[in-house]
Amino acid sequence: MHETSLIEYTLNAVEKRASLMGIERVAEIGLVVGRLAAVPHLMETAFNVMKYGRPMFTETKLVIDYRDLSFCCRNCQEEFTTDSYIEARCPACGGTHLKRTGGDELLIDYFIPEDTV
Ligand SMILES: [Zn+2]
Repeated sequence: MHETSLIEYTLNAVEKRASLMGIERVAEIGLVVGRLAAVPHLMETAFNVMKYGRPMFTETKLVIDYRDLSFCCRNCQEEFTTDSYIEARCPACGGTHLKRTGGDELLIDYFIPEDTV
C-alpha cells in the first residue's frame, strides 16, 4: 500500500526532527496532501496502524489538509482547481489541453509537541 510508505516516511522524518529538538512525544502532525498523492481514508488507516509501537506517536492526532488538483489551461491560460483528474476541463473555454500545476504535494506542514508537565 502506497499510503503506508508515505506515513512511514512522515513518521521517520518527524521522529528524527523531534528527537533533535529534545521532544519525546508529539501531540499533532499536520500534512498537506494533494489528491493525486494519496487516498484520504487510506492515509488515516495507515497512520492509525503504524503509530503503535512508536512511543512518540501513540497519542498523536493526524490533521491532513487535502489540496484539490490545480490546472492551467494551455488554450486560454485560465487557472482552476478540480477534484477529478479524469474529467478535468477548463471552465472558461471547455479546453482539455491542460497543464497540471498542483495536486501531488506531500508536505509535512507542522508538528506540535505534547505538553510535558
Ligand atoms: Zn481555457
